[in-house]
Amino acid sequence: MDEILAGTMRDAVYGRLDYLDQLVADGDEPSRAALANTEISRLTTGWRDLLAAHHPDEHGRCPQCSGWRRPRRHPCSVWTTAHRHLIADDGPRGATSGRHAAATGQPTGAVPRVS
Ligand SMILES: [Zn+2]
Repeated sequence: MDEILAGTMRDAVYGRLDYLDQLVADGDEPSRAALANTEISRLTTGWRDLLAAHHPDEHGRCPQCSGWRRPRRHPCSVWTTAHRHLIADDGPRGATSGRHAAATGQPTGAVPRVS
């Protein structure tokens, strides 16, 4: 993919995310309800596609994040990010754990092993 196409794609995706954030922040109730009806399904489908691409192989390694010199064990950063945003951030504040919790102030929770 050339740099211009990559930049156009990146701008389009960030633009869409900005639009959705603005609609959530400033939209009226019917707009937000319509947003939930359409966008939640799109977002869950997108997460599932992304997680499928980073599903561990038969050796327990992420096929996308592993290089030929440095295999990356599961869970990779995509799975830990998914867990943080979809699971851990729903937990009670102040119940942080994990080695980076103190540095980031973000709850990291325990990442379950997926086989
Ligand atoms: Zn990965």
